Amino acid sequence: MSRSGSGLDLIVIGGGLAGMATAIRAAELGLVVRVLEKGEGDHYLCNSRYTGGLFHIGMDDMRSSPDELVARLTRVTHGETRPDLARTLASNAARAIGWLGTHGVGLIRVGPDGLRQNSLAPPGVRSTGLNWRWRAGDVMLRTLNARLRALGGAFDQGTTALALEVEHGRVRGVKVERNHQTEVLRASAVAICDGGYQANPDLMRRHITPAPDRVLMRNAETGCGNGLVMAEAVGAKLCGMGSFYGHIQYREAMTDGRFWPYPVLDSLCVSGLLVDGNGRRFCDESLGGVHIANAMARLEDPLACHVILDEAIWQGPGRDWLLPANPYLEKAGGRLVSASTLEELAGKIGLDPAKLNSEVEAWNGAVRGRHPFSPDRTNPAYAPHAVKQAPFHAVPLCAGVTYTMGGILTDAAGQVLDRDELPIPGLLAAGACTGGLEGFSRNGYSGGLSKSATFGMIAGETAAALVRANLTSTVHTARIGA
Ligand SMILES: Cc1cc2nc3c(=O)[nH]c(=O)nc-3n(C[C@H](O)[C@H](O)[C@H](O)COP(=O)(O)OP(=O)(O)OC[C@H]3O[C@@H](n4cnc5c(N)ncnc54)[C@H](O)[C@@H]3O)c2cc1C
Repeated sequence: MSRSGSGLDLIVIGGGLAGMATAIRAAELGLVVRVLEKGEGDHYLCNSRYTGGLFHIGMDDMRSSPDELVARLTRVTHGETRPDLARTLASNAARAIGWLGTHGVGLIRVGPDGLRQNSLAPPGVRSTGLNWRWRAGDVMLRTLNARLRALGGAFDQGTTALALEVEHGRVRGVKVERNHQTEVLRASAVAICDGGYQANPDLMRRHITPAPDRVLMRNAETGCGNGLVMAEAVGAKLCGMGSFYGHIQYREAMTDGRFWPYPVLDSLCVSGLLVDGNGRRFCDESLGGVHIANAMARLEDPLACHVILDEAIWQGPGRDWLLPANPYLEKAGGRLVSASTLEELAGKIGLDPAKLNSEVEAWNGAVRGRHPFSPDRTNPAYAPHAVKQAPFHAVPLCAGVTYTMGGILTDAAGQVLDRDELPIPGLLAAGACTGGLEGFSRNGYSGGLSKSATFGMIAGETAAALVRANLTSTVHTARIGA
């Protein structure tokens, strides 16, 4: 093992949006920066490469007022978002996308709602299947890579971070593997930006699903939780580990790339009757697609679910949202299972006809207000629709995991906190590997790109403040958002 890299100010683990934002901001503030990226080649994969490219906060416009955005984050997380993180994101979101623009990242408006006010250009969400080459995230990463190099930053590919080096209670470097050899790189500070733990079956089994092989990796499979494990080893606190951001997808997406990441089937599932392998409703579908995907993943068999609908649902809510089931599922080569009676439909999808009949009856009765829903439906924003007139349809489903929402707890400056919630000297984190913003027990989706860009930029600023002041400890967070 050799020792190298002395003279480095900041090591950043991961070359996705969070890592690039951290590194570029630190480099432009004068730091000597090195990004470690395990992927190889010009288009090393990561979620930032695959992204649909819509910058938003809780599905709203990132340029809305900070108070509106805090209210939005509070609402989507059922009041559980960490107030310091929510306020910091809300106060710095517009600055972050403006700052990305100064580095050549183009954003355009692609639709009327808040979600579509700030899309990467050229836009990503435009057809079914994976289409990232020379679009949204691919162009963004190429642009940011060029900027980092122009600012004198180093970008080490084929380099996997293995563990943090700690000296006298301060993180001072990273043990890495490259070319089948290990070595230690030293720096004044380290930022973990490795993208979450969705592609780590052991961590997924521990926190998200009993059957990690039966949920869809709706992601680049590069987020393996390395950063989380190494942060925990030096005393970091984890937060909100039980949930992921994702969508409901056609079951064949498990083996057929034509069906992911789009179309998503969320609109069908919040409106029609969603049942598990026993033909039973199992969650509050009115809480939306992310909630349903998490509930599906928690089932003993996440791959046994169907949504049951009639033609009116297919022609109505089936057409809602971006690249919806109708018509994109069939355009991509998928098929509805259809029948003229519920008994026949049950036979075709392997459910007990009597059970399906009684579940549909209970559902229709609740839709018509004759008795309460069980499980309850608590969110009036999504109306349930009766399944009443033939032809009846079923769509086999799977839970698509985009990235894990919980992770390493940081303060508003991006400093990793220990179990007493005090900053660990020399250690920062940003992006999908961090937790707290989305809550802890009923996590709500805040937006992946906004989180990675804003907290990446802030982590770069914090690193610069630490190194400039030659601090061996930590910074106060009050100045963030100035
Ligand atoms: C299909 C899809 C569509 C999406 N659409 C949207 C959208 O429209 N809007 C939105 O807000 N969000 C969207 N997201 C989510 C968003 O893209 C991500 O949350 C965000 O890009 C994550 O950025 P990141 O830098 O934190 O992680 P990543 O982009 O995943 O980058 C992490 C990097 O770390 C590297 N790495 C991992 N471990 C190590 C290690 N040990 N050593 C060295 N390197 C390592 C990985 O190789 C990777 O390059 C989407 C994601 C996907 C997959």
